[in-house]
Amino acid sequence: MRTIQGIGVSAGRVLGPSRRMPPPVPEPDAEAKPGPDSTVDGEKARLKEAAEAVRGDLLHRAETASGDAKAVLDATAMMASDPMLLKAAGKHINAGMATDRAIWEAGMEVAAMLQSLGGYMAERTQDVLDVRSRIVAELNGLPAPGIPASDVPFILTAVELAPADTATLDPAMVIGLVTSEGGPQSHTAILARSLGLPAVVGAPGADEVADEAEIYLDGTSGTVVVEPGDEERAAAQKYASRSSLPVFNGTGATSDGHQVPLLANVGSGKDARAAAEAGAEGIGLLRTEFCFLGRDTEPTIEEQVAAYGAVFEAFPGRKVVIRTLDAGADKPLPFLTDATEPNPALGVRGYRTDYVSPGVLARQLEAIAAAAGAHTADVWVMAPMISTAEEAADFAVMCAGAGLGMPGVMVEVPAAALMSEAILSRVRFASLGTNDLTQYTMASDRQLGSLASLNDPWQPAVLQLISATVAGAARATALEPAAGTRTVGVCGEAAADPALAVVLAGMGVNTLSMTPRALSGVGAVLGSVTLEEAKELAARALAAHSAAEARTIVRSRLPLLEQLGL
Ligand code: PEP
Ligand code: MG
Repeated sequence: MRTIQGIGVSAGRVLGPSRRMPPPVPEPDAEAKPGPDSTVDGEKARLKEAAEAVRGDLLHRAETASGDAKAVLDATAMMASDPMLLKAAGKHINAGMATDRAIWEAGMEVAAMLQSLGGYMAERTQDVLDVRSRIVAELNGLPAPGIPASDVPFILTAVELAPADTATLDPAMVIGLVTSEGGPQSHTAILARSLGLPAVVGAPGADEVADEAEIYLDGTSGTVVVEPGDEERAAAQKYASRSSLPVFNGTGATSDGHQVPLLANVGSGKDARAAAEAGAEGIGLLRTEFCFLGRDTEPTIEEQVAAYGAVFEAFPGRKVVIRTLDAGADKPLPFLTDATEPNPALGVRGYRTDYVSPGVLARQLEAIAAAAGAHTADVWVMAPMISTAEEAADFAVMCAGAGLGMPGVMVEVPAAALMSEAILSRVRFASLGTNDLTQYTMASDRQLGSLASLNDPWQPAVLQLISATVAGAARATALEPAAGTRTVGVCGEAAADPALAVVLAGMGVNTLSMTPRALSGVGAVLGSVTLEEAKELAARALAAHSAAEARTIVRSRLPLLEQLGL
Protein backbone atom coordinates (compact mmCIF):
# COMPACT_ATOMS: atom_id res chain seq x y z
CA MET A 1 0.00 0.00 0.00
CA ARG A 2 1.42 3.41 -0.99
CA THR A 3 -0.24 6.78 -0.54
CA ILE A 4 0.29 9.71 -2.91
CA GLN A 5 -1.06 13.08 -1.88
CA GLY A 6 -2.41 15.32 -4.62
CA ILE A 7 -5.14 17.92 -4.94
CA GLY A 8 -8.73 16.72 -5.11
CA VAL A 9 -10.48 18.59 -7.91
CA SER A 10 -13.62 16.60 -8.56
CA ALA A 11 -15.42 14.83 -5.72
CA GLY A 12 -15.93 11.07 -5.48
CA ARG A 13 -14.22 7.97 -4.07
CA VAL A 14 -13.51 5.18 -6.53
CA LEU A 15 -11.34 2.12 -6.82
CA GLY A 16 -10.21 0.33 -9.94
CA PRO A 17 -7.30 -0.84 -12.11
CA SER A 18 -5.00 1.88 -13.39
CA ARG A 19 -4.17 2.49 -17.04
CA ARG A 20 -1.44 4.87 -18.04
CA MET A 21 -1.85 7.50 -20.75
CA PRO A 22 0.97 6.83 -23.23
CA PRO A 23 3.35 9.68 -24.05
CA PRO A 24 2.73 11.54 -27.35
CA VAL A 25 4.16 9.81 -30.43
CA PRO A 26 7.53 11.41 -31.24
CA GLU A 27 7.98 13.08 -34.63
CA PRO A 28 9.99 10.73 -36.91
CA ASP A 29 13.44 11.89 -37.91
CA ALA A 30 13.27 14.07 -41.05
CA GLU A 31 16.66 12.82 -42.25
CA ALA A 32 16.03 9.08 -41.79
CA LYS A 33 16.24 6.93 -44.93
CA PRO A 34 14.43 3.63 -45.63
CA GLY A 35 16.27 0.47 -44.51
CA PRO A 36 18.79 -1.05 -47.00
CA ASP A 37 16.58 -4.10 -47.72
CA SER A 38 13.34 -2.22 -48.15
CA THR A 39 11.61 -1.68 -51.47
CA VAL A 40 9.16 1.01 -52.47
CA ASP A 41 6.36 -1.52 -52.98
CA GLY A 42 7.20 -3.32 -49.76
CA GLU A 43 7.12 -0.07 -47.79
CA LYS A 44 3.80 0.97 -49.34
CA ALA A 45 2.33 -2.41 -48.39
CA ARG A 46 3.68 -2.05 -44.84
CA LEU A 47 2.08 1.39 -44.61
CA LYS A 48 -1.25 0.08 -45.87
CA GLU A 49 -1.15 -2.73 -43.34
CA ALA A 50 -0.41 -0.30 -40.50
CA ALA A 51 -3.28 1.97 -41.62
CA GLU A 52 -5.64 -1.03 -41.72
CA ALA A 53 -4.56 -2.08 -38.23
CA VAL A 54 -5.23 1.45 -36.93
CA ARG A 55 -8.62 1.50 -38.62
CA GLY A 56 -9.52 -1.89 -37.12
CA ASP A 57 -8.44 -0.80 -33.65
CA LEU A 58 -10.48 2.43 -33.84
CA LEU A 59 -13.57 0.60 -35.08
CA HIS A 60 -13.24 -1.96 -32.29
CA ARG A 61 -13.03 0.83 -29.73
CA ALA A 62 -15.99 2.65 -31.31
CA GLU A 63 -18.12 -0.48 -30.82
CA THR A 64 -17.87 -0.27 -27.04
CA ALA A 65 -17.76 3.54 -26.76
CA SER A 66 -20.74 5.80 -26.37
CA GLY A 67 -21.83 9.37 -27.18
CA ASP A 68 -19.23 11.88 -28.38
CA ALA A 69 -16.35 9.43 -27.92
CA LYS A 70 -18.00 6.96 -30.31
CA ALA A 71 -18.60 9.64 -32.94
CA VAL A 72 -14.98 10.80 -32.80
CA LEU A 73 -13.62 7.25 -32.98
CA ASP A 74 -15.84 6.45 -35.98
CA ALA A 75 -14.77 9.63 -37.79
CA THR A 76 -11.10 8.94 -37.06
CA ALA A 77 -11.39 5.32 -38.25
CA MET A 78 -12.75 6.58 -41.56
CA MET A 79 -9.79 8.90 -41.89
CA ALA A 80 -7.37 5.96 -41.42
CA SER A 81 -8.56 4.41 -44.66
CA ASP A 82 -8.65 7.69 -46.56
CA PRO A 83 -6.87 7.13 -49.90
CA MET A 84 -5.80 10.79 -50.05
CA LEU A 85 -3.59 10.38 -46.99
CA LEU A 86 -1.96 7.14 -48.17
CA LYS A 87 -1.49 8.51 -51.68
CA ALA A 88 0.27 11.60 -50.36
CA ALA A 89 2.53 9.37 -48.22
CA GLY A 90 3.16 7.09 -51.25
CA LYS A 91 4.59 10.06 -53.18
CA HIS A 92 7.13 10.68 -50.42
CA ILE A 93 8.03 6.98 -50.30
CA ASN A 94 8.60 7.09 -54.09
CA ALA A 95 10.97 10.00 -53.47
CA GLY A 96 13.04 7.92 -51.02
CA MET A 97 11.63 9.08 -47.70
CA ALA A 98 11.41 6.71 -44.70
CA THR A 99 7.85 5.38 -44.33
CA ASP A 100 7.09 6.81 -40.87
CA ARG A 101 8.31 10.22 -41.95
CA ALA A 102 6.33 9.93 -45.20
CA ILE A 103 3.00 9.45 -43.41
CA TRP A 104 3.92 12.18 -40.92
CA GLU A 105 4.50 14.67 -43.76
CA ALA A 106 1.41 13.47 -45.62
CA GLY A 107 -0.68 14.04 -42.49
CA MET A 108 0.54 17.61 -42.25
CA GLU A 109 -0.18 18.28 -45.93
CA VAL A 110 -3.71 16.87 -45.77
CA ALA A 111 -4.40 18.74 -42.52
CA ALA A 112 -3.26 22.03 -44.09
CA MET A 113 -5.45 21.38 -47.11
CA LEU A 114 -8.53 20.63 -44.97
CA GLN A 115 -7.84 23.70 -42.88
CA SER A 116 -7.79 25.89 -45.99
CA LEU A 117 -11.19 24.55 -47.05
CA GLY A 118 -12.71 25.82 -43.79
CA GLY A 119 -16.06 24.80 -42.23
CA TYR A 120 -16.71 21.10 -41.68
CA MET A 121 -13.52 20.14 -43.51
CA ALA A 122 -11.37 22.28 -41.23
CA GLU A 123 -12.93 20.54 -38.24
CA ARG A 124 -11.46 17.25 -39.49
CA THR A 125 -7.88 18.56 -39.21
CA GLN A 126 -7.44 17.11 -35.73
CA ASP A 127 -8.67 13.68 -36.90
CA VAL A 128 -6.03 13.56 -39.65
CA LEU A 129 -3.25 14.51 -37.28
CA ASP A 130 -4.45 11.91 -34.80
CA VAL A 131 -4.59 9.17 -37.43
CA ARG A 132 -1.14 10.10 -38.66
CA SER A 133 0.30 9.70 -35.14
CA ARG A 134 -1.50 6.38 -34.70
CA ILE A 135 -0.07 5.02 -37.95
CA VAL A 136 3.44 6.14 -36.97
CA ALA A 137 3.00 4.40 -33.59
CA GLU A 138 1.83 1.22 -35.34
CA LEU A 139 4.77 1.30 -37.79
CA ASN A 140 7.28 1.79 -34.99
CA GLY A 141 5.77 -0.62 -32.47
CA LEU A 142 4.86 2.17 -30.02
CA PRO A 143 1.70 2.30 -27.88
CA ALA A 144 -1.19 4.05 -29.65
CA PRO A 145 -1.57 7.67 -28.49
CA GLY A 146 -4.57 8.97 -26.59
CA ILE A 147 -6.82 7.33 -24.01
CA PRO A 148 -5.78 3.65 -23.77
CA ALA A 149 -8.21 0.95 -24.90
CA SER A 150 -9.64 -1.35 -22.24
CA ASP A 151 -12.33 -3.97 -21.84
CA VAL A 152 -12.94 -3.04 -18.21
CA PRO A 153 -13.56 0.31 -16.52
CA PHE A 154 -10.34 1.89 -15.25
CA ILE A 155 -8.72 4.86 -13.53
CA LEU A 156 -6.70 6.87 -16.03
CA THR A 157 -3.27 8.04 -14.90
CA ALA A 158 -1.38 10.69 -16.87
CA VAL A 159 1.04 13.57 -16.60
CA GLU A 160 -1.77 15.95 -17.68
CA LEU A 161 -4.59 15.74 -20.20
CA ALA A 162 -4.87 18.07 -23.17
CA PRO A 163 -8.19 19.52 -24.39
CA ALA A 164 -7.97 17.21 -27.43
CA ASP A 165 -8.06 14.12 -25.17
CA THR A 166 -11.58 15.05 -24.12
CA ALA A 167 -13.04 13.83 -27.36
CA THR A 168 -12.20 10.17 -26.89
CA LEU A 169 -12.62 9.97 -23.14
CA ASP A 170 -15.53 7.62 -22.62
CA PRO A 171 -16.99 8.21 -19.13
CA ALA A 172 -18.43 4.68 -19.15
CA MET A 173 -14.87 3.29 -19.23
CA VAL A 174 -12.86 5.92 -17.38
CA ILE A 175 -14.12 6.01 -13.79
CA GLY A 176 -11.54 8.37 -12.34
CA LEU A 177 -8.55 10.53 -13.25
CA VAL A 178 -5.21 11.03 -11.55
CA THR A 179 -2.48 13.27 -12.94
CA SER A 180 0.97 14.10 -11.68
CA GLU A 181 0.80 17.64 -13.07
CA GLY A 182 -2.03 20.17 -13.26
CA GLY A 183 -3.74 22.30 -10.67
CA PRO A 184 -7.38 22.88 -9.71
CA GLN A 185 -7.81 25.04 -12.82
CA SER A 186 -5.98 22.71 -15.22
CA HIS A 187 -7.65 21.13 -18.24
CA THR A 188 -7.86 17.79 -16.44
CA ALA A 189 -9.70 19.39 -13.54
CA ILE A 190 -12.13 21.26 -15.78
CA LEU A 191 -12.72 18.13 -17.89
CA ALA A 192 -13.26 15.91 -14.83
CA ARG A 193 -15.81 18.27 -13.36
CA SER A 194 -17.65 18.59 -16.65
CA LEU A 195 -17.92 14.79 -16.88
CA GLY A 196 -18.60 14.30 -13.17
CA LEU A 197 -15.52 12.06 -12.82
CA PRO A 198 -13.70 11.85 -9.48
CA ALA A 199 -10.23 13.31 -10.01
CA VAL A 200 -6.96 14.13 -8.27
CA VAL A 201 -4.31 16.31 -9.89
CA GLY A 202 -0.79 17.30 -8.88
CA ALA A 203 -0.15 13.83 -7.42
CA PRO A 204 3.62 13.35 -7.83
CA GLY A 205 4.59 10.06 -9.46
CA ALA A 206 0.98 9.12 -10.25
CA ASP A 207 1.83 8.78 -13.93
CA GLU A 208 4.41 6.13 -13.05
CA VAL A 209 2.02 3.76 -11.26
CA ALA A 210 2.24 0.38 -13.05
CA ASP A 211 -0.58 -0.45 -15.45
CA GLU A 212 -3.19 -2.72 -13.88
CA ALA A 213 -2.18 -1.80 -10.30
CA GLU A 214 -5.30 -1.29 -8.23
CA ILE A 215 -5.76 2.32 -7.11
CA TYR A 216 -8.16 4.17 -4.90
CA LEU A 217 -8.76 7.87 -5.26
CA ASP A 218 -10.59 10.39 -3.16
CA GLY A 219 -11.42 13.44 -5.29
CA THR A 220 -12.24 15.56 -2.24
CA SER A 221 -9.17 15.00 -0.05
CA GLY A 222 -6.79 14.46 -2.99
CA THR A 223 -5.56 11.12 -1.61
CA VAL A 224 -4.48 8.36 -4.02
CA VAL A 225 -3.69 4.92 -2.59
CA VAL A 226 -1.87 2.32 -4.69
CA GLU A 227 -2.84 -1.25 -3.68
CA PRO A 228 -5.45 -0.02 -1.18
CA GLY A 229 -6.62 -1.80 1.97
CA ASP A 230 -9.98 -2.51 3.61
CA GLU A 231 -10.53 1.05 4.76
CA GLU A 232 -10.35 2.41 1.21
CA ARG A 233 -12.49 -0.42 -0.12
CA ALA A 234 -15.18 0.43 2.43
CA ALA A 235 -14.96 4.15 1.58
CA ALA A 236 -15.41 3.44 -2.14
CA GLN A 237 -18.35 1.17 -1.39
CA LYS A 238 -19.97 3.80 0.79
CA TYR A 239 -19.53 6.34 -2.01
CA ALA A 240 -21.08 3.98 -4.54
CA SER A 241 -24.18 3.70 -2.35
CA ARG A 242 -24.47 7.47 -1.64
CA SER A 243 -27.81 9.29 -1.91
CA SER A 244 -28.31 10.33 -5.47
CA LEU A 245 -28.11 14.01 -6.28
CA PRO A 246 -31.48 15.69 -6.59
CA VAL A 247 -32.10 17.03 -10.11
CA PHE A 248 -31.55 20.80 -10.20
CA ASN A 249 -34.96 22.46 -10.14
CA GLY A 250 -33.95 25.46 -12.23
CA THR A 251 -33.80 28.09 -9.46
CA GLY A 252 -30.68 28.64 -7.39
CA ALA A 253 -31.64 29.90 -3.94
CA THR A 254 -30.87 29.56 -0.24
CA SER A 255 -33.41 27.70 1.91
CA ASP A 256 -35.05 31.03 2.85
CA GLY A 257 -35.48 32.06 -0.76
CA HIS A 258 -32.54 34.40 -1.43
CA GLN A 259 -32.00 33.83 -5.13
CA VAL A 260 -28.56 33.26 -6.62
CA PRO A 261 -29.14 32.30 -10.26
CA LEU A 262 -27.07 29.30 -11.29
CA LEU A 263 -25.74 29.75 -14.81
CA ALA A 264 -23.58 27.62 -17.09
CA ASN A 265 -20.13 27.93 -18.63
CA VAL A 266 -20.12 26.83 -22.27
CA GLY A 267 -17.94 26.89 -25.36
CA SER A 268 -20.43 26.11 -28.15
CA GLY A 269 -24.06 25.84 -29.17
CA LYS A 270 -23.94 22.13 -28.36
CA ASP A 271 -22.76 22.85 -24.82
CA ALA A 272 -25.49 25.47 -24.48
CA ARG A 273 -28.22 23.01 -25.44
CA ALA A 274 -26.87 20.55 -22.84
CA ALA A 275 -26.79 23.36 -20.27
CA ALA A 276 -30.41 24.25 -20.99
CA GLU A 277 -31.36 20.61 -20.50
CA ALA A 278 -29.54 20.54 -17.16
CA GLY A 279 -31.73 23.44 -16.00
CA ALA A 280 -29.16 26.27 -16.15
CA GLU A 281 -30.89 29.62 -15.63
CA GLY A 282 -28.78 31.19 -18.35
CA ILE A 283 -25.20 31.32 -19.55
CA GLY A 284 -22.68 33.02 -17.27
CA LEU A 285 -19.69 32.49 -19.53
CA LEU A 286 -19.51 31.74 -23.23
CA ARG A 287 -15.81 31.21 -23.91
CA THR A 288 -15.82 32.46 -27.51
CA GLU A 289 -12.21 31.42 -28.07
CA PHE A 290 -13.35 27.80 -27.69
CA CYS A 291 -15.39 28.22 -30.89
CA PHE A 292 -12.19 28.97 -32.81
CA LEU A 293 -9.33 27.06 -31.13
CA GLY A 294 -6.79 25.74 -33.61
CA ARG A 295 -7.73 28.35 -36.23
CA ASP A 296 -4.87 30.27 -37.74
CA THR A 297 -7.07 32.89 -39.35
CA GLU A 298 -9.61 35.22 -37.81
CA PRO A 299 -13.14 33.76 -38.11
CA THR A 300 -15.35 35.74 -40.47
CA ILE A 301 -18.23 37.80 -39.13
CA GLU A 302 -20.65 35.24 -40.64
CA GLU A 303 -18.90 32.34 -38.88
CA GLN A 304 -19.02 34.22 -35.62
CA VAL A 305 -22.69 35.16 -35.98
CA ALA A 306 -23.50 31.48 -36.55
CA ALA A 307 -21.43 30.27 -33.56
CA TYR A 308 -22.84 32.83 -31.10
CA GLY A 309 -26.37 32.55 -32.51
CA ALA A 310 -26.37 28.81 -31.75
CA VAL A 311 -25.79 29.63 -28.08
CA PHE A 312 -28.35 32.47 -27.92
CA GLU A 313 -30.90 30.19 -29.54
CA ALA A 314 -30.67 27.71 -26.64
CA PHE A 315 -31.66 30.40 -24.10
CA PRO A 316 -34.54 32.41 -25.53
CA GLY A 317 -35.38 35.36 -23.29
CA ARG A 318 -32.63 34.32 -20.84
CA LYS A 319 -29.38 35.94 -19.83
CA VAL A 320 -26.32 34.97 -21.87
CA VAL A 321 -22.97 36.47 -20.89
CA ILE A 322 -20.61 36.29 -23.82
CA ARG A 323 -16.92 36.89 -23.31
CA THR A 324 -14.86 38.41 -26.09
CA LEU A 325 -11.89 36.35 -27.29
CA ASP A 326 -9.61 35.40 -24.42
CA ALA A 327 -6.61 34.37 -26.49
CA GLY A 328 -3.21 33.77 -24.98
CA ALA A 329 -1.28 31.73 -22.39
CA ASP A 330 -3.05 28.35 -22.08
CA LYS A 331 -5.43 29.23 -24.96
CA PRO A 332 -3.28 30.49 -27.85
CA LEU A 333 -5.00 31.60 -31.05
CA PRO A 334 -2.35 31.82 -33.76
CA PHE A 335 -4.06 34.78 -35.46
CA LEU A 336 -3.97 36.86 -32.27
CA THR A 337 -1.20 35.75 -29.96
CA ASP A 338 2.56 35.70 -30.19
CA ALA A 339 3.84 32.22 -29.36
CA THR A 340 7.34 33.54 -28.66
CA GLU A 341 6.44 35.78 -25.71
CA PRO A 342 8.70 34.90 -22.77
CA ASN A 343 5.87 35.08 -20.22
CA PRO A 344 2.54 34.49 -21.97
CA ALA A 345 0.33 34.55 -18.85
CA LEU A 346 1.58 38.09 -18.22
CA GLY A 347 1.66 39.02 -21.88
CA VAL A 348 -0.57 40.34 -24.60
CA ARG A 349 -3.61 38.20 -23.85
CA GLY A 350 -7.35 38.67 -23.48
CA TYR A 351 -8.50 42.29 -23.92
CA ARG A 352 -4.87 43.35 -24.37
CA THR A 353 -4.71 41.79 -27.84
CA ASP A 354 -6.72 44.82 -28.97
CA TYR A 355 -3.61 46.95 -28.34
CA VAL A 356 -1.60 45.09 -30.97
CA SER A 357 -4.26 43.66 -33.30
CA PRO A 358 -6.89 46.42 -33.47
CA GLY A 359 -10.00 45.52 -35.42
CA VAL A 360 -10.49 41.92 -34.27
CA LEU A 361 -12.39 42.97 -31.14
CA ALA A 362 -14.50 45.55 -32.99
CA ARG A 363 -15.46 42.93 -35.60
CA GLN A 364 -16.29 40.46 -32.86
CA LEU A 365 -18.59 42.99 -31.16
CA GLU A 366 -20.24 43.62 -34.52
CA ALA A 367 -20.85 39.87 -34.90
CA ILE A 368 -22.18 39.58 -31.33
CA ALA A 369 -24.60 42.45 -31.96
CA ALA A 370 -25.78 40.88 -35.22
CA ALA A 371 -26.32 37.48 -33.55
CA ALA A 372 -28.05 39.12 -30.58
CA GLY A 373 -30.35 40.98 -32.96
CA ALA A 374 -31.55 37.71 -34.45
CA HIS A 375 -32.45 36.11 -31.08
CA THR A 376 -34.33 36.98 -27.93
CA ALA A 377 -31.56 36.09 -25.44
CA ASP A 378 -30.65 38.89 -23.02
CA VAL A 379 -27.06 39.36 -24.19
CA TRP A 380 -24.39 40.75 -21.83
CA VAL A 381 -20.82 41.21 -23.13
CA MET A 382 -17.64 41.12 -21.11
CA ALA A 383 -13.94 41.57 -21.78
CA PRO A 384 -11.33 39.23 -20.27
CA MET A 385 -8.13 40.31 -18.46
CA ILE A 386 -9.18 43.88 -17.66
CA SER A 387 -6.65 45.56 -15.34
CA THR A 388 -7.65 49.24 -15.20
CA ALA A 389 -10.68 51.52 -15.13
CA GLU A 390 -9.48 53.09 -18.41
CA GLU A 391 -9.64 49.72 -20.15
CA ALA A 392 -13.14 49.17 -18.76
CA ALA A 393 -14.22 52.60 -20.01
CA ASP A 394 -12.75 51.99 -23.48
CA PHE A 395 -14.49 48.64 -23.70
CA ALA A 396 -17.82 50.21 -22.69
CA VAL A 397 -17.40 52.78 -25.50
CA MET A 398 -16.70 50.01 -28.02
CA CYS A 399 -19.78 48.08 -26.88
CA ALA A 400 -21.95 51.17 -27.14
CA GLY A 401 -20.58 51.75 -30.65
CA ALA A 402 -21.69 48.26 -31.63
CA GLY A 403 -25.12 48.81 -30.07
CA LEU A 404 -24.49 46.43 -27.15
CA GLY A 405 -26.10 47.80 -24.00
CA MET A 406 -24.71 45.56 -21.22
CA PRO A 407 -20.92 45.92 -21.10
CA GLY A 408 -18.99 44.21 -18.33
CA VAL A 409 -15.58 42.94 -17.38
CA MET A 410 -13.95 39.83 -16.05
CA VAL A 411 -12.15 40.36 -12.75
CA GLU A 412 -9.14 38.08 -13.09
CA VAL A 413 -6.30 40.45 -12.26
CA PRO A 414 -5.84 41.49 -8.61
CA ALA A 415 -5.62 45.13 -9.78
CA ALA A 416 -9.17 44.90 -11.13
CA ALA A 417 -10.46 43.43 -7.86
CA LEU A 418 -8.87 46.26 -5.89
CA MET A 419 -10.20 48.88 -8.32
CA SER A 420 -13.65 47.39 -8.65
CA GLU A 421 -15.49 50.56 -7.57
CA ALA A 422 -13.79 52.62 -10.30
CA ILE A 423 -14.19 49.87 -12.88
CA LEU A 424 -17.84 49.26 -12.08
CA SER A 425 -18.49 52.98 -12.40
CA ARG A 426 -17.67 52.48 -16.10
CA VAL A 427 -19.38 49.17 -16.86
CA ARG A 428 -22.57 47.46 -15.74
CA PHE A 429 -21.32 44.19 -14.27
CA ALA A 430 -18.30 42.12 -13.32
CA SER A 431 -17.66 38.41 -13.42
CA LEU A 432 -14.92 36.98 -11.22
CA GLY A 433 -12.67 34.62 -13.13
CA THR A 434 -11.34 32.87 -10.06
CA ASN A 435 -9.10 30.56 -12.10
CA ASP A 436 -6.90 33.39 -13.28
CA LEU A 437 -7.53 35.56 -10.21
CA THR A 438 -6.04 32.75 -8.12
CA GLN A 439 -3.04 32.25 -10.39
CA TYR A 440 -2.24 35.98 -10.44
CA THR A 441 -2.91 36.57 -6.73
CA MET A 442 -0.75 33.65 -5.67
CA ALA A 443 1.77 34.15 -8.52
CA SER A 444 1.49 30.47 -9.35
CA ASP A 445 0.91 29.05 -12.82
CA ARG A 446 -2.53 27.44 -12.96
CA GLN A 447 -1.14 24.55 -15.04
CA LEU A 448 1.57 23.54 -12.59
CA GLY A 449 0.86 20.55 -10.39
CA SER A 450 3.74 21.37 -8.10
CA LEU A 451 2.07 24.68 -7.17
CA ALA A 452 -1.43 23.28 -6.85
CA SER A 453 -1.73 23.97 -3.14
CA LEU A 454 -1.06 27.67 -3.76
CA ASN A 455 -3.38 27.64 -6.73
CA ASP A 456 -6.45 27.16 -4.61
CA PRO A 457 -9.42 29.56 -4.70
CA TRP A 458 -9.91 28.92 -0.96
CA GLN A 459 -6.67 30.82 -0.33
CA PRO A 460 -7.54 33.65 2.09
CA ALA A 461 -5.94 36.25 -0.21
CA VAL A 462 -8.23 35.21 -3.06
CA LEU A 463 -11.30 35.28 -0.81
CA GLN A 464 -10.33 38.80 0.35
CA LEU A 465 -10.11 40.00 -3.26
CA ILE A 466 -13.51 38.49 -4.10
CA SER A 467 -14.97 40.26 -1.09
CA ALA A 468 -13.29 43.54 -2.12
CA THR A 469 -14.78 43.23 -5.61
CA VAL A 470 -18.30 42.79 -4.21
CA ALA A 471 -17.83 45.73 -1.84
CA GLY A 472 -16.54 47.93 -4.69
CA ALA A 473 -19.57 47.03 -6.80
CA ALA A 474 -21.91 48.06 -3.97
CA ARG A 475 -20.12 51.40 -3.64
CA ALA A 476 -20.30 51.99 -7.41
CA THR A 477 -24.05 51.31 -7.30
CA ALA A 478 -24.54 53.66 -4.34
CA LEU A 479 -22.64 56.43 -6.13
CA GLU A 480 -24.86 56.28 -9.19
CA PRO A 481 -28.02 54.30 -8.44
CA ALA A 482 -29.74 55.49 -11.61
CA ALA A 483 -27.33 53.38 -13.68
CA GLY A 484 -28.70 50.22 -12.02
CA THR A 485 -27.24 47.67 -9.63
CA ARG A 486 -23.72 46.60 -10.60
CA THR A 487 -23.84 42.85 -10.25
CA VAL A 488 -20.91 40.57 -9.54
CA GLY A 489 -20.95 36.94 -10.66
CA VAL A 490 -18.38 34.19 -10.38
CA CYS A 491 -17.62 32.13 -13.47
CA GLY A 492 -14.34 30.50 -12.44
CA GLU A 493 -14.19 26.91 -11.21
CA ALA A 494 -14.73 28.16 -7.62
CA ALA A 495 -18.44 28.45 -8.40
CA ALA A 496 -18.63 24.71 -9.08
CA ASP A 497 -17.38 23.78 -5.60
CA PRO A 498 -20.64 23.50 -3.59
CA ALA A 499 -19.01 24.52 -0.29
CA LEU A 500 -17.27 27.51 -1.84
CA ALA A 501 -20.47 28.42 -3.70
CA VAL A 502 -22.19 28.87 -0.32
CA VAL A 503 -19.33 31.12 0.83
CA LEU A 504 -19.55 33.18 -2.37
CA ALA A 505 -23.30 33.61 -1.97
CA GLY A 506 -22.71 34.66 1.63
CA MET A 507 -20.20 37.27 0.46
CA GLY A 508 -22.88 38.83 -1.73
CA VAL A 509 -21.99 37.37 -5.13
CA ASN A 510 -25.12 37.66 -7.30
CA THR A 511 -24.76 34.75 -9.74
CA LEU A 512 -22.70 31.56 -9.99
CA SER A 513 -21.71 30.09 -13.34
CA MET A 514 -20.34 26.58 -13.69
CA THR A 515 -20.09 23.45 -15.76
CA PRO A 516 -23.67 22.12 -16.09
CA ARG A 517 -22.68 18.93 -14.22
CA ALA A 518 -22.15 20.95 -11.06
CA LEU A 519 -25.61 22.57 -11.07
CA SER A 520 -27.36 19.87 -9.07
CA GLY A 521 -24.70 19.64 -6.33
CA VAL A 522 -24.34 23.40 -5.97
CA GLY A 523 -28.12 23.87 -6.11
CA ALA A 524 -28.70 21.26 -3.38
CA VAL A 525 -26.03 22.54 -0.99
CA LEU A 526 -26.97 26.19 -1.48
CA GLY A 527 -30.57 25.23 -0.75
CA SER A 528 -29.50 23.62 2.54
CA VAL A 529 -28.54 26.93 4.22
CA THR A 530 -30.26 30.23 4.95
CA LEU A 531 -28.73 33.47 3.70
CA GLU A 532 -27.70 34.29 7.29
CA GLU A 533 -25.91 30.94 7.58
CA ALA A 534 -24.17 31.52 4.25
CA LYS A 535 -23.04 34.95 5.49
CA GLU A 536 -21.69 33.43 8.68
CA LEU A 537 -19.77 30.79 6.72
CA ALA A 538 -18.38 33.53 4.47
CA ALA A 539 -17.22 35.48 7.51
CA ARG A 540 -15.53 32.37 8.93
CA ALA A 541 -13.82 31.59 5.62
CA LEU A 542 -12.62 35.19 5.33
CA ALA A 543 -11.19 35.05 8.84
CA ALA A 544 -9.24 31.83 8.19
CA HIS A 545 -5.47 31.99 7.87
CA SER A 546 -5.09 29.21 5.32
CA ALA A 547 -6.97 27.58 2.46
CA ALA A 548 -7.12 24.29 4.38
CA GLU A 549 -8.54 25.98 7.47
CA ALA A 550 -11.21 27.84 5.47
CA ARG A 551 -12.23 24.70 3.60
CA THR A 552 -12.34 22.52 6.71
CA ILE A 553 -14.39 24.98 8.77
CA VAL A 554 -16.96 25.49 6.00
CA ARG A 555 -17.22 21.84 5.00
CA SER A 556 -17.73 20.75 8.62
CA ARG A 557 -20.82 23.01 8.73
CA LEU A 558 -22.37 21.54 5.58
CA PRO A 559 -23.31 17.91 6.39
CA LEU A 560 -25.16 17.51 3.09
CA LEU A 561 -21.79 17.42 1.29
CA GLU A 562 -20.87 14.08 2.89
CA GLN A 563 -24.34 12.62 2.34
CA LEU A 564 -24.17 13.42 -1.36
CA GLY A 565 -20.55 12.31 -1.72
CA LEU A 566 -19.48 15.85 -2.73
C1 PEP B 1 -11.16 32.26 -15.10
O1 PEP B 1 -10.02 32.68 -15.28
O2 PEP B 1 -11.62 31.96 -13.97
C2 PEP B 1 -12.06 32.05 -16.24
C3 PEP B 1 -13.33 31.74 -16.07
O3 PEP B 1 -11.50 32.13 -17.47
P1 PEP B 1 -10.68 30.93 -18.17
O4 PEP B 1 -10.75 29.74 -17.26
O5 PEP B 1 -11.31 30.72 -19.48
O6 PEP B 1 -9.31 31.54 -18.24
MG1 MG C 1 -9.46 33.44 -17.21
